[in-house]
Parts: sequence; structure tokens; C-alpha cells
Amino acid sequence: MGERPLARCETCGNDYDMAFEIRAQGATHVFDSFECAIQRMAPVCEHCGCRVIGHGVQAGDRWYCCAHCAREEGADQIVDRVGAPA
Ligand SMILES: [Zn+2]
Ligand SMILES: [Zn+2]
Repeated sequence: MGERPLARCETCGNDYDMAFEIRAQGATHVFDSFECAIQRMAPVCEHCGCRVIGHGVQAGDRWYCCAHCAREEGADQIVDRVGAPA
């Protein structure tokens, strides 16, 4: 009889038995789907408005989906950091 804690999606409130946890910045978040996780966790590109679900590019406190978008917004020092040391 596996008593398990109620896992309720933070985004839509769905109580789903296949819910999963994501740990970020010391907090644990619970979601029922990746779609809900992305909606809650992913930053939005400042240039094109899409959700940043890949590596993304950070310029100051702004997020972009790619270096191209960052440059379009004037952050011309930005290059894609895929493969760069953390
Ligand atoms: Zn949900
Ligand atoms: Zn973009």
C-alpha cells in the first residue's frame, strides 16, 4: 500500500499520478506535463517572444532564445554558449 504524497501540478492544478518534480534554485516544483513545466519555468525571449527551452542566451537580466535574437536587441557581444564552460 504505497501511500504517496499528493502531487499537484503548479501550473494547472491537475492532481496526476504521473507528475514529476523539477528542482531549480533550491526549490522543488511539481508538474503533470512538460508543457506545464515549460510554461512555468522557461523564460521568454525578449526579442521574438518564444519560450526559451534550450540553452538560451542571457544578456544582463534578459533572456533570448538564441544569439541572433540577442544581437537584434543590441547585445552584440553575445555568442551562443553551447559547448562553452559553465
Ligand atoms: Zn499542469
Ligand atoms: Zn528569440
